[in-house]
Amino acid sequence: MTARSLTGSALAASLLESARTRALDLKAEGTWPTLAIVDATGDPAAERYARSKLRAAERAGVRARLHRLEAEEDEAALADLLAELGADPEIHGILLEAPLPPRYGPLQPRRRVPPSKDVEGLHPENLGRLMEGDPVFVPCTAAACLELLKAYDVPLAGAEVVIVGRSPVIGRPAALLFSHADATVTLCHSRTRDLAEHTRRGEILVVAAGRAGLITREMVRPGAVVLDVGVNVTPSGEVLGDVDPRGVAEVASALTPTRGGIGPVTTALLIRATVQAACRNPGRST
Ligand code: NAP
Repeated sequence: MTARSLTGSALAASLLESARTRALDLKAEGTWPTLAIVDATGDPAAERYARSKLRAAERAGVRARLHRLEAEEDEAALADLLAELGADPEIHGILLEAPLPPRYGPLQPRRRVPPSKDVEGLHPENLGRLMEGDPVFVPCTAAACLELLKAYDVPLAGAEVVIVGRSPVIGRPAALLFSHADATVTLCHSRTRDLAEHTRRGEILVVAAGRAGLITREMVRPGAVVLDVGVNVTPSGEVLGDVDPRGVAEVASALTPTRGGIGPVTTALLIRATVQAACRNPGRST
């Protein structure tokens, strides 16, 4: 079997097109949906990710502004910037690029983003609403997994879903979303005993561990649909997923490519969330 390639570009384009229609209506009414991208990572490679979000925003008629903090700036500078953006009525969505250096403290800066502007869905209030099954903003990468499966008509109700990685950004919210979609979910992590025993059960296997080539063909159920969320950049600049694509493509029925798979859908959902935020909370006219 050679797995079908589940590309995300067409879905991303259609999400951006719908967002654009709504954004232009809002703009005509005097509200220009605006996203603030805050890059405090201190990592020059983060610029590439920020640029792709700026391009997607432009395609959707959303205004986006990049705010970069220099490596030597401290948590107070980030807190001040987030307070300023949080209070600015012209800003509808705030995105905090990850990973933040450890000196900022785990997750704390995210709590400074007002829930109404938390288009990444990572504020405890938004995560709590997701837990309740009444979400407003949903973590975009987790949501992208389900949107991509729906776009390819992969049934979720009753499906055996195995997720590798339990981060609060991807694996855990994905587990909730799949559970809300009536799938049966197993959430694996670095302390899981005999990972392969679990992954081999997955009709849908989602891998978000950040470990290049972690999942090999022996670990995949024949015919499974595999979503490779991992993005691992080697010292030579090569981008590798968490899945061994050659081996896994021989047993899986479908597999996302490392580039052009989950990534563009994630970005498009972020832009859509910004437009939703502007609809919910138009703020000052521009
Ligand atoms: P993270 O915070 O480092 O979490 C990694 C998770 O994987 C943890 O739960 C960890 O377990 C688990 N894990 C690590 N090694 C493992 C192993 N050998 N076996 C089983 N589980 C293992 O990473 P993240 O932020 O969730 O990101 C995961 C990956 O997705 C990264 O490669 C990242 O670059 C990529 N990503 C992709 C997109 C996209 O749009 N495609 C967006 C964001 C991130 P413990 O909890 O036990 O430590």
